[in-house]
Amino acid sequence: MTDKLPPVHAETFAAQAGGDVDAETGAIVPPLHMATTYIRDADNAYSKGYVYGRPDNLTVRQAEAVLTRLEGGAATLLSGSGMTSATCAFLALERPAHVIAPEVMYWALKLWLREDAKSHGLDVTFVDASRIENIAAAIKPGITKMIWLETPANPLWTLSDIAAAAGLARQHGALLAVDSTVATPVLSQPLALGADVVMHAATKYLNGHSDVVAGSLTFARRDDYFGRAERVRRMLGGILGPFEAMLLMRGMRTLHVRVAHQSRAAMAVAKHFAADPRIVEVLYPGLQTHAGHAIAARQMRGGYSGMLSVRVKAGTAAAIRTAAQVKVWKRATSLGGVESLIEHRASIEGLGSPCPPDLLRLSVGLEHVDDLIADLDQALGANV
Ligand SMILES: *Cc1c(COP(=O)(O)O)cnc(C)c1O
Repeated sequence: MTDKLPPVHAETFAAQAGGDVDAETGAIVPPLHMATTYIRDADNAYSKGYVYGRPDNLTVRQAEAVLTRLEGGAATLLSGSGMTSATCAFLALERPAHVIAPEVMYWALKLWLREDAKSHGLDVTFVDASRIENIAAAIKPGITKMIWLETPANPLWTLSDIAAAAGLARQHGALLAVDSTVATPVLSQPLALGADVVMHAATKYLNGHSDVVAGSLTFARRDDYFGRAERVRRMLGGILGPFEAMLLMRGMRTLHVRVAHQSRAAMAVAKHFAADPRIVEVLYPGLQTHAGHAIAARQMRGGYSGMLSVRVKAGTAAAIRTAAQVKVWKRATSLGGVESLIEHRASIEGLGSPCPPDLLRLSVGLEHVDDLIADLDQALGANV
């Protein structure tokens, strides 16, 4: 690899995936490195730094370098899913450990924290993380090792104050981890606000095309905690596959334009349906009526993400019927892709979910926003 970029904006770095040009061919798209094993040197060493595909891989490293730059971190570890990255962040803590997590958060990770974490030596306290006082009250001095935030958080788009939580964590010798999947590095920079590690379900916005399952952890420092996380990934074999890393790198080239468009379009959808009598409430951090708007305005830059939820006044059955009647939106789970998705969220989260049963979760893609509004409008039509 040659011709590294000079110091440039994150947009420039992402658009050129770091700016590497292949030394052998001059190719401006890096070659895909699929090898699982590497030749030893004559003197029995591995001077090139690559030994085997489970610890690392050049294509994975290239994608990690792009994300490290976008998040302003010191190092990134990519893994096979957002869940792998998130559980890796917890399993890298010295245990036994007490951790604090939000009541409103990605449901599968909450399930793991509720039902599986104990057997890994983790004691978890769930709090309403929209108020810093609640996080402060849950801290067990000397015992709490990590505060985990998700902001904005699924599926109510609850905001948590990253800088305030970072202050608390530092004061008590704990780490602050932020699931920034929805905000993306385009809208929020948790490390700059004091977080120690930022996690993404790269499956979502970072890849952006609904064709890769991947996760990431980006670390503020290459310290002991990073070393332990790298060891967990290596020992559990959680590394992302090289082909997926290549697709992810391709996806991140367009991250800034996608997120900027999706944020503008989501705001238009939110404003339109906020005035619709068939809707009880539109949940979107960009609306001044949203409980987290003040924090969002402070810690998100240039947009409020492409995610919003609407609550259907006619109730649960009508919400499910609406999701069944759309023709442009795709009725599916997940988020952050180029195609807009609609989902009756309580149906997938199941029992114990804080999700209101009349809620539809919307992931706004890259279609013309008038088509999206018209389609949801006709789907709601029957529910007056
Ligand atoms: C999807 C998602 C996850 C989990 O990621 P996977 O790639 O599905 O394992 C974690 N957090 C958030 C906010 C998500 O949306």
